[in-house]
Amino acid sequence: MIQDIAPLKLNNAYHRKKPKNNSRMLGFFDRMIYLKYDEKIEFLTYEQWTDTRREQKKEIPESVYLFSIGEEDYFLTDIAADTQIEGFAFHKMFSVRTMQPMKDVLAAATAWHLYVWYRDNQFCGRCGTKLAHDTLQRMMRCPKCGNLVFPKIAPAVIIGLTDGDKILMTKYAGREYKRYALIAGFTEIGETAEETVAREVMEEVGLKVKNIRYYKSQPWGFDSNLLLGYFCDLAEKAEIQLEEEELSLAEWVDYKDVPDDPEGLSLTREMMVHFRKSREKNHQND
Ligand SMILES: [Zn+2]
Repeated sequence: MIQDIAPLKLNNAYHRKKPKNNSRMLGFFDRMIYLKYDEKIEFLTYEQWTDTRREQKKEIPESVYLFSIGEEDYFLTDIAADTQIEGFAFHKMFSVRTMQPMKDVLAAATAWHLYVWYRDNQFCGRCGTKLAHDTLQRMMRCPKCGNLVFPKIAPAVIIGLTDGDKILMTKYAGREYKRYALIAGFTEIGETAEETVAREVMEEVGLKVKNIRYYKSQPWGFDSNLLLGYFCDLAEKAEIQLEEEELSLAEWVDYKDVPDDPEGLSLTREMMVHFRKSREKNHQND
């Protein structure tokens, strides 16, 4: 999955660091990220960035330290939409999903998550004053009313609903992602993740579930999520009642027909393959 970059590790401890020459400078515009892609992702280094700005006799914008992966520090900065550096361009975040290597896909998604939070929290939501960076932790602080604003993570569940040898697979209506998915949804205020599982299945396909089991979780910065994967069993046989605003398709798929996961990126697809392999193992013993 996106976070599986061992032996490397994403270190997200907050520091007030300054960029070094080899630091990676990440900038966003719309839902796009500035990078060079030629089989491998290459982010702008601080050296390339400062050289370019000096040549163009422009100021070097401020940057915020994000995290490190291995020896490399990643910073967020303002890269203007008209920036021209050879080989570099703004690429859609959606297209980054299928790029390589995985550590830089993880870096792009995590940086995007932090960027969205910084972008949307420049002013205090309580009194309207401009917020300031805290010096000790990843937090914005209101100098006037004392409001503390922490990074926002939206928990959501991914649901592997199974009935014997079949798993319920879906396709979303009106989204860029066109392939099979699993039922998924945001946790609402006041409910447990297990309650989200039962509610989302009822809302999206009108089915009752039982035996809800936690599987694994995954940070998914593309949509500011923490995804929690659960498997559960169908409690009562019934017709699928499709919620057509959310889904274009929901159908029971036999384990033998579950597609492979060559990207190895998402929890959803890992769960599908996990289901297929567990049933294959069961049937070997038949
Ligand atoms: Zn305030």
